[in-house]
Amino acid sequence: MASFTLHGIPVSRGISIGRAHLLTPAALDVKHYLVPEEQVEAEVKRLQDAIAEVHRNLQELWTELPKEAPTELGAFIDVHVLILSDPMISEAPLDIIRSRHYNAEWALVTQIDELSAQFDEIEDEYLRERKQDIQQVAERVLKVLMGTALPAPPPVGEDHFQPQMIVVAHDISPADMLAFRDRSFVGFVTDVGGQNSHTAIVARSLDIPAAVGMSQASRLIEQDDWVIVDGDAGVVICNPSALVMEQYRARQANLMKARKRLLKLKKTPAVTTDGTPITLLANIELPDDCGPALEAGAVGVGLFRSEFLFMGRGAQGLKVPGEDEQFEQYRKAVLAMKGRPVTIRTLDVGADKPLDQTEHTALNPALGLRAIRYCLAEPQLFLTQLRAILRASAFGKVRILIPMLAHAFEIDQSLAMIEQAKAQLREQNVKFDDDVDVGAMIEIPAAALALPMFVKRLDFLSIGTNDLIQYTLAIDRVDYEVAHLYNPLHPAVLNLIAMTIEAGRKAGVDVAVCGEMAGDVKLTRLLLGMGLREFSMHPAQLLAVKQEILSSDLARLVPRTRRILRAMEPAAIAEAVEQLQSL
Ligand code: PEP
Ligand code: MG
Repeated sequence: MASFTLHGIPVSRGISIGRAHLLTPAALDVKHYLVPEEQVEAEVKRLQDAIAEVHRNLQELWTELPKEAPTELGAFIDVHVLILSDPMISEAPLDIIRSRHYNAEWALVTQIDELSAQFDEIEDEYLRERKQDIQQVAERVLKVLMGTALPAPPPVGEDHFQPQMIVVAHDISPADMLAFRDRSFVGFVTDVGGQNSHTAIVARSLDIPAAVGMSQASRLIEQDDWVIVDGDAGVVICNPSALVMEQYRARQANLMKARKRLLKLKKTPAVTTDGTPITLLANIELPDDCGPALEAGAVGVGLFRSEFLFMGRGAQGLKVPGEDEQFEQYRKAVLAMKGRPVTIRTLDVGADKPLDQTEHTALNPALGLRAIRYCLAEPQLFLTQLRAILRASAFGKVRILIPMLAHAFEIDQSLAMIEQAKAQLREQNVKFDDDVDVGAMIEIPAAALALPMFVKRLDFLSIGTNDLIQYTLAIDRVDYEVAHLYNPLHPAVLNLIAMTIEAGRKAGVDVAVCGEMAGDVKLTRLLLGMGLREFSMHPAQLLAVKQEILSSDLARLVPRTRRILRAMEPAAIAEAVEQLQSL
């Protein structure tokens, strides 16, 4: 098999080696997990039973057909019965379960995708259109399977029955990415996507090597090809030679060792060499992420992206979570953090995190009804979330963080709604923390340029560098074609960040960075030099950032950083930032 290398955008660090698993959009709609050896025959039977039930349903439909029904209707059912009986549907997916250990839904969809691709090649239009019948039959079976789904088994480790798999797809939505949390995938490769798209962010939070913007990967890589993902370089090697494989395995082992060494820093307080304490917080998507956050030594949660509780529910036919369901999730995180603060960001939907994948009509969604704009337009939804968050504040330290604020009236309306939610709870005699801190994400340049408006009204600020960069440089963070323009070191970006930190310091309002810059060790010293004292990042990045802090001397960093902020030449800035690391 020919070996080839693809270059794209590195988004999640580390090296993974495994077999390619090509994921089509259809496959993303169903659950996919690997079935343990001892459950394979039970899974085969589950699919056989589902097929048998659809057979019975079709027979019933036939017999119940009213006399006056058009003849095509009977013929239509016949076609479905024929398709269902064809070994391509009734046998081949069973073989996939047995050979690849896929769960029944995944095996069926895989087979349907292969068949569909074959149908696309057919010249005869009539025959080509039969593809739809096959898909309809598959949908009938999937519907029955949905009612008999077994819980997915826990993830498998390195030495289990299947080689580790690497997902290769054209695109993966953030919600789909989140669903991979419990699966046995070890790497991700997509054709599209940017460094700080939410898909990339979730890959980082799962701590799985990933590379995006590979343009043709899903066309060039074939099912079961051996693939190496170098998440540091953004390189994917398909069918590597034995020598290359060996080199990467050695690098992988070294990385593992370095990670183990970092674990020793877990309990070490994050303090610079001159004795300044630094607060290291975790970014989480779901309450279960609190475990890894504590293991990494986080002293709290700096960003709980609550929208992930709202996403990916369409496939299960569930609407947005109600107050009680949300409350349970927020309380779970608060209790898990055992008294440490949990900063819950209110719903940040829109742009690349649509609430409903099908309702995506805005021409320019990143500039549209996103985040707080959406919440203020949907006051009942917002109030429900605020009540749920406030109720959780009775169980530990909670802070409320509002995304995408730019206007004074948005801040005022948000604060008024928090008061309204409090009043509603008081009326019901429900306990909450009356002094809950409220903060703003600074992620729109207008906000960073109008800080007095913010520090006057709010208790803390958190800089969302991902969006701040997107909106300052006018580049879509999801679009790989402009990914090369996404530069955290652009002087405009650096100055907006520095201004925010300084304004917070002067006003006595805490400022954190919770965008991806906070977890980039190459930028730790620059941010320290700007005066940043609170960093919030994925748990997997925390110990490496702490290591950097432990050897940083603020007295030396501050004057250098001042000079960097005055510089306007990108090459000079990049060089000076690199030099900070050898100080
Ligand atoms: C940011 O914009 O930097 C941020 C932390 O929020 P998100 O990435 O979820 O938009
Ligand atoms: Mg943001």
